[in-house]
Amino acid sequence: MFDNYSKGMKQRIWLSLAHMGGQEQKFIKEAFDTNWIVPLGPNVDGFEKELEICLSERNENLNRKNYVVALSSGTAAIHLALVQAGVKAGDEVICQSFTFIASANPVIYQFAKPVFVDSEKDTWNMDPVKMEEAIIDRKEKTGSYPKAIVPVHLYGMPAKMGEINRIAKKYNIPVVEDAAEALGSYFKNQACGTIGDWAALSFNGNKIITTSGGGALICHSEELDKNAKFLATQARDQAPHYQHSVVGYNYRLSNVSAGIGRGQLMILEEHIKRRREINQWYRNALKDVEGISFQSEPDNDYFSNYWLTSIVIDPEKCGGKTREDIQDMMIKEDIEVRPLWKPMHLQPLFKDAPYYGGKVAEDLFKGGLCLPSHPMLDEDDLNRIVEVIKQVVCVNEPELTLAECF
Ligand SMILES: *Cc1c(COP(=O)(O)O)cnc(C)c1O
Repeated sequence: MFDNYSKGMKQRIWLSLAHMGGQEQKFIKEAFDTNWIVPLGPNVDGFEKELEICLSERNENLNRKNYVVALSSGTAAIHLALVQAGVKAGDEVICQSFTFIASANPVIYQFAKPVFVDSEKDTWNMDPVKMEEAIIDRKEKTGSYPKAIVPVHLYGMPAKMGEINRIAKKYNIPVVEDAAEALGSYFKNQACGTIGDWAALSFNGNKIITTSGGGALICHSEELDKNAKFLATQARDQAPHYQHSVVGYNYRLSNVSAGIGRGQLMILEEHIKRRREINQWYRNALKDVEGISFQSEPDNDYFSNYWLTSIVIDPEKCGGKTREDIQDMMIKEDIEVRPLWKPMHLQPLFKDAPYYGGKVAEDLFKGGLCLPSHPMLDEDDLNRIVEVIKQVVCVNEPELTLAECF
Protein backbone atom coordinates (compact mmCIF):
# COMPACT_ATOMS: atom_id res chain seq x y z
CA MET A 1 0.00 0.00 0.00
CA PHE A 2 2.96 2.33 0.33
CA ASP A 3 4.27 1.80 -3.18
CA ASN A 4 2.70 4.87 -4.81
CA TYR A 5 5.64 6.99 -3.72
CA SER A 6 7.55 7.74 -6.89
CA LYS A 7 11.15 8.78 -6.55
CA GLY A 8 14.45 8.74 -8.30
CA MET A 9 17.88 7.76 -7.04
CA LYS A 10 18.69 10.75 -4.87
CA GLN A 11 15.37 12.33 -4.11
CA ARG A 12 14.85 14.35 -1.01
CA ILE A 13 13.88 12.26 2.00
CA TRP A 14 11.26 13.95 4.14
CA LEU A 15 10.88 13.68 7.90
CA SER A 16 7.17 12.95 7.94
CA LEU A 17 4.77 13.02 5.01
CA ALA A 18 1.01 12.77 4.85
CA HIS A 19 -0.10 9.58 3.14
CA MET A 20 -3.62 9.20 1.79
CA GLY A 21 -5.30 5.83 1.98
CA GLY A 22 -7.71 6.26 -0.93
CA GLN A 23 -11.07 6.67 0.80
CA GLU A 24 -10.53 10.36 1.68
CA GLN A 25 -11.79 11.60 -1.71
CA LYS A 26 -14.99 9.62 -1.36
CA PHE A 27 -15.89 11.40 1.88
CA ILE A 28 -14.91 14.79 0.43
CA LYS A 29 -16.99 14.12 -2.68
CA GLU A 30 -19.97 13.31 -0.47
CA ALA A 31 -19.51 16.67 1.24
CA PHE A 32 -19.50 18.43 -2.14
CA ASP A 33 -22.39 16.39 -3.55
CA THR A 34 -24.57 17.23 -0.57
CA ASN A 35 -23.29 20.83 -0.36
CA TRP A 36 -22.01 20.40 3.21
CA ILE A 37 -19.05 22.77 2.63
CA VAL A 38 -19.28 24.28 6.11
CA PRO A 39 -18.05 23.68 9.62
CA LEU A 40 -20.18 20.84 10.98
CA GLY A 41 -22.01 18.24 8.90
CA PRO A 42 -22.25 14.47 8.47
CA ASN A 43 -18.49 13.96 8.09
CA VAL A 44 -17.84 15.82 11.36
CA ASP A 45 -20.40 13.66 13.18
CA GLY A 46 -19.03 10.53 11.52
CA PHE A 47 -15.41 11.39 12.28
CA GLU A 48 -16.25 12.02 15.94
CA LYS A 49 -18.12 8.73 16.29
CA GLU A 50 -15.37 6.78 14.51
CA LEU A 51 -12.70 8.36 16.70
CA GLU A 52 -14.70 7.48 19.81
CA ILE A 53 -14.81 3.86 18.68
CA CYS A 54 -11.10 3.86 17.82
CA LEU A 55 -10.16 5.28 21.25
CA SER A 56 -12.40 2.87 23.14
CA GLU A 57 -11.43 -0.34 21.31
CA ARG A 58 -9.02 -1.67 23.92
CA ASN A 59 -10.75 -0.04 26.90
CA GLU A 60 -13.97 -2.01 27.03
CA ASN A 61 -13.87 -2.41 30.79
CA LEU A 62 -13.54 1.30 31.33
CA ASN A 63 -16.40 2.76 33.33
CA ARG A 64 -16.49 6.12 31.60
CA LYS A 65 -17.31 7.10 28.06
CA ASN A 66 -15.04 9.00 25.69
CA TYR A 67 -16.65 12.00 23.97
CA VAL A 68 -14.81 13.46 20.98
CA VAL A 69 -15.28 17.02 19.70
CA ALA A 70 -13.67 17.66 16.30
CA LEU A 71 -11.90 21.03 16.22
CA SER A 72 -9.84 23.19 13.90
CA SER A 73 -6.53 22.31 15.63
CA GLY A 74 -4.89 20.51 18.51
CA THR A 75 -3.99 23.89 19.98
CA ALA A 76 -7.70 24.80 20.04
CA ALA A 77 -8.40 21.52 21.86
CA ILE A 78 -5.85 22.27 24.60
CA HIS A 79 -7.29 25.77 24.90
CA LEU A 80 -10.89 24.54 25.29
CA ALA A 81 -9.76 21.95 27.86
CA LEU A 82 -8.16 24.72 29.94
CA VAL A 83 -11.31 26.85 29.61
CA GLN A 84 -13.44 23.92 30.80
CA ALA A 85 -11.01 23.18 33.63
CA GLY A 86 -11.67 26.73 34.85
CA VAL A 87 -8.17 28.13 34.21
CA LYS A 88 -8.43 31.91 34.55
CA ALA A 89 -6.20 35.00 34.43
CA GLY A 90 -3.39 34.76 36.97
CA ASP A 91 -3.79 31.01 37.59
CA GLU A 92 -0.82 28.68 37.20
CA VAL A 93 -0.72 25.61 34.96
CA ILE A 94 1.95 22.92 35.12
CA CYS A 95 3.40 22.18 31.67
CA GLN A 96 6.02 19.80 30.37
CA SER A 97 9.03 21.86 29.37
CA PHE A 98 10.24 19.40 26.72
CA THR A 99 7.57 19.87 24.06
CA PHE A 100 6.35 21.85 21.07
CA ILE A 101 5.20 25.35 22.00
CA ALA A 102 1.55 24.57 21.19
CA SER A 103 1.33 22.65 24.51
CA ALA A 104 1.97 25.86 26.47
CA ASN A 105 0.60 28.70 24.32
CA PRO A 106 -3.05 28.08 25.33
CA VAL A 107 -2.06 28.82 28.95
CA ILE A 108 -1.09 32.32 27.77
CA TYR A 109 -4.37 32.65 25.81
CA GLN A 110 -6.12 32.37 29.22
CA PHE A 111 -3.76 34.99 30.72
CA ALA A 112 -2.60 32.22 33.05
CA LYS A 113 1.05 31.39 33.86
CA PRO A 114 2.89 28.25 32.80
CA VAL A 115 5.09 26.50 35.36
CA PHE A 116 7.53 24.23 33.56
CA VAL A 117 8.65 20.79 34.71
CA ASP A 118 11.60 18.72 33.45
CA SER A 119 11.34 15.28 31.82
CA GLU A 120 12.45 11.91 33.18
CA LYS A 121 14.93 9.80 31.23
CA ASP A 122 12.72 6.76 30.62
CA THR A 123 10.00 8.22 28.40
CA TRP A 124 11.39 11.79 27.92
CA ASN A 125 8.07 13.08 29.27
CA MET A 126 6.97 14.90 32.44
CA ASP A 127 8.89 13.75 35.53
CA PRO A 128 6.26 12.91 38.17
CA VAL A 129 8.72 13.53 41.03
CA LYS A 130 9.59 17.03 39.81
CA MET A 131 5.92 17.59 39.09
CA GLU A 132 4.97 16.96 42.72
CA GLU A 133 7.84 19.18 43.88
CA ALA A 134 6.43 21.95 41.67
CA ILE A 135 2.88 21.49 43.00
CA ILE A 136 4.04 21.73 46.62
CA ASP A 137 6.37 24.65 46.00
CA ARG A 138 3.78 26.68 44.04
CA LYS A 139 1.29 26.23 46.88
CA GLU A 140 3.93 27.46 49.32
CA LYS A 141 4.94 30.43 47.19
CA THR A 142 1.55 31.60 45.88
CA GLY A 143 -0.97 30.19 48.36
CA SER A 144 -2.79 28.21 45.64
CA TYR A 145 -2.31 24.97 43.79
CA PRO A 146 -1.85 25.03 40.00
CA LYS A 147 -5.21 24.73 38.18
CA ALA A 148 -4.24 22.09 35.64
CA ILE A 149 -1.41 19.76 34.57
CA VAL A 150 -0.53 19.26 30.90
CA PRO A 151 1.68 16.20 30.33
CA VAL A 152 2.70 15.34 26.75
CA HIS A 153 3.20 11.97 25.00
CA LEU A 154 6.18 13.12 23.00
CA TYR A 155 6.86 11.56 19.59
CA GLY A 156 4.10 9.08 20.48
CA MET A 157 5.69 7.80 23.71
CA PRO A 158 3.18 7.61 26.58
CA ALA A 159 4.11 9.66 29.64
CA LYS A 160 4.18 7.97 33.09
CA MET A 161 0.42 8.42 33.37
CA GLY A 162 -0.05 6.12 36.38
CA GLU A 163 2.09 8.28 38.65
CA ILE A 164 1.00 11.56 37.06
CA ASN A 165 -2.70 10.76 37.59
CA ARG A 166 -2.10 9.51 41.13
CA ILE A 167 -0.30 12.71 42.17
CA ALA A 168 -2.81 14.92 40.34
CA LYS A 169 -5.69 13.23 42.23
CA LYS A 170 -3.90 13.66 45.54
CA TYR A 171 -3.95 17.45 45.04
CA ASN A 172 -7.24 17.47 43.13
CA ILE A 173 -5.74 19.02 39.98
CA PRO A 174 -7.23 18.07 36.57
CA VAL A 175 -4.97 16.51 33.92
CA VAL A 176 -5.10 17.62 30.29
CA GLU A 177 -3.17 15.12 28.17
CA ASP A 178 -1.46 16.60 25.14
CA ALA A 179 -1.87 13.53 22.92
CA ALA A 180 -1.29 15.53 19.71
CA GLU A 181 1.49 13.13 18.65
CA ALA A 182 0.08 9.98 20.24
CA LEU A 183 -3.07 8.78 18.49
CA GLY A 184 -2.76 4.99 18.57
CA SER A 185 -0.36 4.90 21.53
CA TYR A 186 -1.32 3.07 24.72
CA PHE A 187 -0.43 3.15 28.39
CA LYS A 188 -1.42 -0.07 30.21
CA ASN A 189 -3.71 -0.93 27.32
CA GLN A 190 -5.54 2.36 27.63
CA ALA A 191 -5.46 4.71 24.64
CA CYS A 192 -3.42 7.88 25.07
CA GLY A 193 -6.00 10.65 25.08
CA THR A 194 -8.41 8.76 27.32
CA ILE A 195 -6.34 8.61 30.51
CA GLY A 196 -6.55 12.17 31.86
CA ASP A 197 -9.60 14.36 32.49
CA TRP A 198 -9.31 15.96 29.06
CA ALA A 199 -7.06 15.38 26.09
CA ALA A 200 -6.09 16.96 22.79
CA LEU A 201 -5.36 15.21 19.50
CA SER A 202 -3.86 16.89 16.43
CA PHE A 203 -4.45 16.13 12.75
CA ASN A 204 -1.99 18.65 11.42
CA GLY A 205 -0.20 17.90 8.14
CA ASN A 206 2.67 15.81 9.48
CA LYS A 207 0.98 14.00 12.38
CA ILE A 208 0.23 10.28 12.28
CA ILE A 209 -3.04 11.01 10.49
CA THR A 210 -4.10 14.33 9.02
CA THR A 211 -7.21 16.29 8.12
CA SER A 212 -4.85 18.80 6.41
CA GLY A 213 -5.26 20.75 9.64
CA GLY A 214 -7.44 19.91 12.60
CA GLY A 215 -7.66 18.49 16.09
CA ALA A 216 -9.99 16.98 18.64
CA LEU A 217 -10.90 17.45 22.27
CA ILE A 218 -11.63 14.36 24.32
CA CYS A 219 -13.80 14.72 27.43
CA HIS A 220 -15.85 12.32 29.55
CA SER A 221 -19.36 13.61 30.08
CA GLU A 222 -22.24 14.55 27.85
CA GLU A 223 -22.40 17.93 29.55
CA LEU A 224 -18.76 18.78 28.77
CA ASP A 225 -19.19 17.46 25.24
CA LYS A 226 -22.18 19.77 24.64
CA ASN A 227 -20.45 22.69 26.30
CA ALA A 228 -17.30 22.24 24.17
CA LYS A 229 -19.37 22.25 20.97
CA PHE A 230 -21.19 25.37 22.23
CA LEU A 231 -17.92 27.19 23.06
CA ALA A 232 -16.36 26.15 19.73
CA THR A 233 -19.22 27.78 17.75
CA GLN A 234 -19.13 31.28 19.29
CA ALA A 235 -21.19 30.30 22.38
CA ARG A 236 -24.56 31.26 20.98
CA ASP A 237 -27.41 31.16 23.49
CA GLN A 238 -30.74 29.57 22.60
CA ALA A 239 -32.75 32.56 21.42
CA PRO A 240 -34.55 33.60 18.24
CA HIS A 241 -31.83 36.23 17.66
CA TYR A 242 -28.03 36.17 18.11
CA GLN A 243 -27.46 36.33 21.85
CA HIS A 244 -24.26 35.60 23.80
CA SER A 245 -23.60 35.38 27.53
CA VAL A 246 -20.06 33.94 27.57
CA VAL A 247 -17.02 34.26 25.32
CA GLY A 248 -16.91 31.71 22.51
CA TYR A 249 -14.50 30.66 19.78
CA ASN A 250 -14.59 29.69 16.13
CA TYR A 251 -12.90 26.33 16.65
CA ARG A 252 -15.02 23.71 14.83
CA LEU A 253 -13.60 21.43 12.13
CA SER A 254 -14.98 21.80 8.60
CA ASN A 255 -17.04 19.03 7.06
CA VAL A 256 -14.53 18.75 4.17
CA SER A 257 -11.55 18.34 6.53
CA ALA A 258 -13.45 15.79 8.60
CA GLY A 259 -13.95 13.79 5.39
CA ILE A 260 -10.18 13.50 5.00
CA GLY A 261 -9.98 12.40 8.64
CA ARG A 262 -12.53 9.62 8.11
CA GLY A 263 -10.48 8.22 5.24
CA GLN A 264 -7.28 8.55 7.26
CA LEU A 265 -8.72 6.68 10.25
CA MET A 266 -9.17 3.65 7.99
CA ILE A 267 -5.41 3.35 7.53
CA LEU A 268 -4.31 4.40 11.03
CA GLU A 269 -3.50 0.85 12.12
CA GLU A 270 -1.35 0.22 9.04
CA HIS A 271 0.48 3.50 9.54
CA ILE A 272 1.30 2.66 13.15
CA LYS A 273 2.49 -0.79 12.13
CA ARG A 274 4.75 0.71 9.47
CA ARG A 275 6.13 3.46 11.75
CA ARG A 276 6.95 0.82 14.36
CA GLU A 277 8.65 -1.33 11.72
CA ILE A 278 10.76 1.64 10.67
CA ASN A 279 11.67 2.28 14.30
CA GLN A 280 12.75 -1.35 14.68
CA TRP A 281 14.71 -1.14 11.45
CA TYR A 282 16.73 1.84 12.72
CA ARG A 283 17.39 0.05 16.01
CA ASN A 284 18.77 -3.01 14.28
CA ALA A 285 20.80 -1.03 11.78
CA LEU A 286 22.39 1.14 14.48
CA LYS A 287 22.65 -1.41 17.28
CA ASP A 288 26.43 -1.72 17.01
CA VAL A 289 27.03 2.00 16.74
CA GLU A 290 28.29 3.19 20.08
CA GLY A 291 27.01 6.44 21.51
CA ILE A 292 23.61 6.39 19.81
CA SER A 293 20.56 5.66 21.94
CA PHE A 294 16.83 5.67 21.17
CA GLN A 295 13.67 6.89 22.83
CA SER A 296 12.32 3.49 23.94
CA GLU A 297 9.30 1.95 25.62
CA PRO A 298 10.43 1.39 29.24
CA ASP A 299 8.41 -1.86 29.55
CA ASN A 300 5.26 -3.59 28.30
CA ASP A 301 2.99 -0.99 29.92
CA TYR A 302 4.06 1.39 27.17
CA PHE A 303 3.08 1.13 23.51
CA SER A 304 4.28 4.00 21.30
CA ASN A 305 2.97 4.71 17.81
CA TYR A 306 6.59 5.80 17.14
CA TRP A 307 5.32 8.79 15.20
CA LEU A 308 8.93 9.95 14.91
CA THR A 309 11.93 7.74 15.66
CA SER A 310 14.22 9.82 17.86
CA ILE A 311 17.86 9.26 18.77
CA VAL A 312 20.39 10.88 21.08
CA ILE A 313 24.04 11.18 20.17
CA ASP A 314 26.63 11.07 22.96
CA PRO A 315 29.70 12.91 21.63
CA GLU A 316 31.97 11.26 24.20
CA LYS A 317 31.24 7.85 22.70
CA CYS A 318 31.06 9.08 19.09
CA GLY A 319 34.59 10.41 18.75
CA GLY A 320 33.45 13.92 19.61
CA LYS A 321 30.82 13.97 16.86
CA THR A 322 27.66 15.85 17.78
CA ARG A 323 24.03 16.08 16.77
CA GLU A 324 24.96 19.14 14.66
CA ASP A 325 27.55 17.11 12.71
CA ILE A 326 24.92 14.53 11.77
CA GLN A 327 22.38 17.25 11.03
CA ASP A 328 24.82 19.11 8.72
CA MET A 329 25.63 15.95 6.79
CA MET A 330 21.93 15.07 6.47
CA ILE A 331 21.24 18.53 5.02
CA LYS A 332 24.05 17.99 2.49
CA GLU A 333 22.54 14.63 1.55
CA ASP A 334 19.07 16.20 1.18
CA ILE A 335 17.60 14.25 4.09
CA GLU A 336 15.23 16.11 6.39
CA VAL A 337 15.92 15.61 10.09
CA ARG A 338 14.81 17.70 13.04
CA PRO A 339 16.43 18.49 16.38
CA LEU A 340 14.34 17.45 19.38
CA TRP A 341 12.10 20.21 20.76
CA LYS A 342 13.91 23.06 22.46
CA PRO A 343 12.63 23.08 26.07
CA MET A 344 10.10 25.77 26.92
CA HIS A 345 12.03 27.03 29.95
CA LEU A 346 14.86 27.95 27.55
CA GLN A 347 12.58 29.87 25.18
CA PRO A 348 12.83 33.68 25.18
CA LEU A 349 9.01 33.83 25.39
CA PHE A 350 9.02 31.99 28.73
CA LYS A 351 12.23 33.35 30.24
CA ASP A 352 10.43 34.48 33.42
CA ALA A 353 8.38 31.32 33.98
CA PRO A 354 9.18 29.11 37.00
CA TYR A 355 11.01 25.85 36.21
CA TYR A 356 11.37 22.66 38.26
CA GLY A 357 13.99 20.14 37.32
CA GLY A 358 17.52 19.61 36.14
CA LYS A 359 19.05 19.18 32.74
CA VAL A 360 17.26 16.13 31.33
CA ALA A 361 15.24 18.06 28.73
CA GLU A 362 18.18 20.33 27.97
CA ASP A 363 20.53 17.40 27.38
CA LEU A 364 17.99 15.66 25.15
CA PHE A 365 17.68 18.85 23.13
CA LYS A 366 21.47 19.17 22.80
CA GLY A 367 22.05 15.60 21.65
CA GLY A 368 18.80 14.57 20.03
CA LEU A 369 17.54 14.18 16.50
CA CYS A 370 14.27 12.99 14.92
CA LEU A 371 14.85 10.71 11.95
CA PRO A 372 12.63 10.39 8.87
CA SER A 373 9.79 8.09 9.92
CA HIS A 374 6.94 8.29 7.43
CA PRO A 375 5.29 5.16 6.02
CA MET A 376 6.52 5.52 2.43
CA LEU A 377 10.21 5.21 3.31
CA ASP A 378 11.71 2.16 1.67
CA GLU A 379 14.82 0.13 2.29
CA ASP A 380 16.98 2.33 0.04
CA ASP A 381 15.90 5.47 1.89
CA LEU A 382 16.55 3.88 5.26
CA ASN A 383 19.97 2.63 4.20
CA ARG A 384 20.84 6.09 2.88
CA ILE A 385 19.92 7.65 6.24
CA VAL A 386 21.76 5.07 8.33
CA GLU A 387 24.84 5.35 6.11
CA VAL A 388 25.04 9.08 6.77
CA ILE A 389 24.91 8.49 10.52
CA LYS A 390 27.57 5.77 10.31
CA GLN A 391 29.77 7.92 8.09
CA VAL A 392 29.67 10.75 10.59
CA VAL A 393 30.44 8.59 13.59
CA CYS A 394 33.09 6.69 11.59
CA VAL A 395 31.67 3.21 11.36
CA ASN A 396 31.82 1.50 8.00
CA GLU A 397 29.74 -1.60 7.61
CA PRO A 398 28.09 -3.19 4.59
CA GLU A 399 24.49 -2.21 3.90
CA LEU A 400 21.88 -4.24 5.70
CA THR A 401 18.98 -5.83 3.94
CA LEU A 402 15.53 -5.91 5.49
CA ALA A 403 15.82 -9.67 5.99
CA GLU A 404 18.96 -9.25 8.11
CA CYS A 405 17.18 -6.77 10.31
CA PHE A 406 14.16 -8.86 11.31
C1 LIG B 1 1.20 19.35 16.80
C2 LIG B 1 1.22 19.54 18.26
C3 LIG B 1 0.30 20.35 18.92
C4 LIG B 1 -0.66 21.26 18.23
O1 LIG B 1 -1.50 20.72 17.31
P1 LIG B 1 -2.02 21.63 16.10
O2 LIG B 1 -3.08 20.80 15.49
O3 LIG B 1 -0.85 21.88 15.20
O4 LIG B 1 -2.56 22.91 16.69
C5 LIG B 1 0.32 20.39 20.30
N1 LIG B 1 1.22 19.69 21.01
C6 LIG B 1 2.14 18.91 20.42
C7 LIG B 1 3.08 18.13 21.27
C8 LIG B 1 2.18 18.82 19.02
O5 LIG B 1 3.12 18.05 18.44
